Formats: sequence, structure tokens, C-alpha cells
Amino acid sequence: MPLRALVAGGAGFVGSHLSEELLERGYEVVALDNLITGFTDNVSHLVGNPNFSHVNGDAEDAMTLPGHFDLVMHFASPASPPRYLAHPIETLHAGSNATEALLNVAQRDGARFIMASTSEVYGDPSVHPQTEEYWGNVSSTGPRSVYDEAKRYAEALTFAYHRTFGVDTGIVRLFNTYGPRMDPDDGRAVPAFVKAALNNVPIPLHGDGSQTRSLCYIDDQVRGILALAAARGETGPINIGNPHEQSLLEIAEAVIRLTGSTSNIELHPRPVDDPERRQPDITKARAILSWSPEVEVEEGLARTIAWFREHGTFKGLLTETAATPA
Ligand code: NAD
Repeated sequence: MPLRALVAGGAGFVGSHLSEELLERGYEVVALDNLITGFTDNVSHLVGNPNFSHVNGDAEDAMTLPGHFDLVMHFASPASPPRYLAHPIETLHAGSNATEALLNVAQRDGARFIMASTSEVYGDPSVHPQTEEYWGNVSSTGPRSVYDEAKRYAEALTFAYHRTFGVDTGIVRLFNTYGPRMDPDDGRAVPAFVKAALNNVPIPLHGDGSQTRSLCYIDDQVRGILALAAARGETGPINIGNPHEQSLLEIAEAVIRLTGSTSNIELHPRPVDDPERRQPDITKARAILSWSPEVEVEEGLARTIAWFREHGTFKGLLTETAATPA
């Protein structure tokens, strides 16, 4: 009998890649996703695999799923600022009610439980790069609090289940991850830049573009997450991200160069509480999981661009008039 994994958020960007890799590793995968920000297109290539099923439902109802699970992965939450600002209550529920339901499944089945936390628990950080020991600088009432505080609560709940009931939990703090299948319209920098560049329209950049991000390619991210899943007894939290820090302006310029686009850069006002700097300290991931990123940003961007070009009809990515850049 194959091991069974429940991937909540399995039709999302990260969840679909995780589901794919777990199938590759011999798991039976149940992707539980209510499609609030995900798409069946993300897993359509997995449908037909007898070891894969997508259940269209809320992670809050995870206890009603039939069967026993060996691994429970909580990757269900709106993740980009425009999406969680459009769904503030659902985002808080994803961190609270859904986390509790999935922890209950893990407790019932004696499963390993992995929760997707985020670099956003560090808020606008005063410690740089961010270590797991840093407690963060987060507003509990600002617009982004629906996401940041939901994740902080989810971390606290996960540790409470570990301490109170002995559930085998692990928390991974993801830093900006990018790659194929990102939603080009969900407001995250890489897909927004690539979409604009491929369509040769102005690239939207918030502020003056000097704020930094550290981009981790999805294959590296999945490898890190599954290393934590395999490290039974390791609670984390563990940062998984690429320490290569770049300004958003540099990233936009790289996308223009790699696509050969004629786009220029268009400056927009900076969103409230947008963090100034982001860079993971991955000392723990290196030491505990023997993990470090392998895909250079230029290479990852090139792979992402190639995929977006190839899937021009994906979520209306390319307009009919989009010229193929030289
Ligand atoms: P995404 O929006 O592509 O995927 C999230 C998925 O969860 C979607 O398919 C959505 O429909 C589903 N979902 C949301 N609420 C649900 C619920 N209550 N029940 C069932 N399904 C639900 O986002 P993503 O980038 O794939 O993010 C996945 C996880 O990783 C999230 O928890 C996010 O907070 C975390 N994360 C991602 C990043 C990143 O850079 N991508 C960074 C930090 C943390």
C-alpha cells in the first residue's frame, strides 16, 4: 500500500508542485482545495493518475475525508497580497479553522504534519537577514494582518498541538517562491513582470523598486519542504528560501533582458506595510536538512519564462497581439 498524503491547497501554485513530486515519490495524494485562489488547470495533468484525486472542498472539513493519512501538508491559504486582501475572512479562517482541522486529522492518524508558514511572520524586519529566532515586526491591525497574523496564529496552534497532543509537526517558513503555474494576475512580482514583458506592455513596479526580495525557484522549495516532511520529529520553524537578495528593479530588468521584451518600467505607489527587505538566513536548513538552493535566479527565471511562453493561453497570459520578442 502506498503512503497517503493529504495536500490541502493542492490545486494552488506550491501545492500542485508538491502533489506532483509526492506522486513521483510513490505517494497516493489527495489534493483538498476549495479553488478560492487555485485552479483545476494546475492539476489537470495529474487527473487520470490512479494515485491522485482532487477533492473540491474546504480544508476546514478535512476530518470528513475518508481513509487514513500518513502525511498532512497544509498549503491552503490565499497567498498574494491582492488575493488575501480580497478574501480577508477566508484567509484568517485558513490560518485558524483550517489549521485546526488538519491538525486534528494528523492527530487522529498519527501523521506527520507540515504547515506552510511564511517570511511574512517577520513583518517589516529590523533583523537582516531573517533568522528563525527573530520574532518579527508585524502590525496586528494593518491591512496585511489578515495574512501575517493568521500565519502567526497557525504556527502557535501547530506548536500547541505538538506540545499538548504530541503531534509530529513541522513548520516551514517559505520566502518568495516562483516558477511555472503561478497565477499571472495574483499580483506577485515574477508572474506580473513576466506577463507584462511577454505582452510588451509596461512592467508595473511598486515604489522605486529598491525594496528587496530573495527569490526561490519552486523545485528548490519543494525539495526543502519534503526534506522537512521526511525529518520526523523536527518541528522547525525552518526558513526555506534563496539568500540571493535582489531589488525588485533588478528582477524587473532581468525579466526584460531574458524575454527580449520592449517593455519599459512603470512606477506605481507602494502598498501599505510593504516590507523593505527580505532575505532568509538558511543556516538551520543547511545544518538540519542538508538543504540549500541549487537553481540560480537567472536560470529559474529563464525556465519560468519558457513555461509561460509555452502556455500562452494559461489564464489569459498572452494577449492575441502579443508579439514574440526577438
Ligand atoms: P496559491 O494561492 O497558489 O495556493 C493556495 C491554494 O490553497 C489555492 O489553490 C487555494 O484555492 C487553496 N485554498 C485556500 N484556502 C483554502 C481552504 N480554506 N480550503 C481549501 N483550499 C484552500 O498560493 P501558493 O503560493 O501556492 O501558497 C501555498 C501556501 O504556501 C500558502 O499557505 C502560502 O501562505 C504559503 N506561502 C507561499 C509563498 C510563495 O512565495 N508562493 C511564500 C510564503 C508562504
